[in-house]
Amino acid sequence: MAGLYIHIPFCRQACYYCDFHFSTNQNNKTELIRHLVDELVIQKDYLEGETLETIYFGGGTPSLLSPKELEWILATIDKHYSLSNNPEITLEANPDDLNPASLSQLHALGINRLSIGIQSFDDTILKYLNRAHTGTEGLNCIPLAQDAGIKNISIDLIFAIPNQDNELLKRILK
Ligand code: SF4
Repeated sequence: MAGLYIHIPFCRQACYYCDFHFSTNQNNKTELIRHLVDELVIQKDYLEGETLETIYFGGGTPSLLSPKELEWILATIDKHYSLSNNPEITLEANPDDLNPASLSQLHALGINRLSIGIQSFDDTILKYLNRAHTGTEGLNCIPLAQDAGIKNISIDLIFAIPNQDNELLKRILK
């Protein structure tokens, strides 16, 4: 069983705690994807025809990609790699990028799993972390994704944030 991880190194803004590789300047996004697609073609024999069961878009913030950009990458994989009949295709997404229109486009492209960076439902903590979304957006995007047909969803929550006591943590989990 083989899987493909694709790193999308762009973010809307820098969360204060983050140590991943990303840029908040998206000017070179199209060029990076062009090179990423070229690299997919160059490396097409690396797996020696092994079937891909999973594709994972991580970041950074892959939900910043437009449907056209995602389609470009997925079509390249489909053309040059052996894909299973029902691959698990995951996209890491932030709540501020998820709305009924974007979710139905993701679903139509074959994205069948979301890993949503919610981190907290508390607005004070989200501001403290410099997240680009509110607690309400975090809460709402989960049923919106389910309504769009994406049933396989995980969410990230961050614990041990300074000033986050156990009571607040319990409220967030509830
Ligand atoms: S959105 Fe994710 S990758 Fe980007 S800065 Fe925040 S935590 Fe890091």
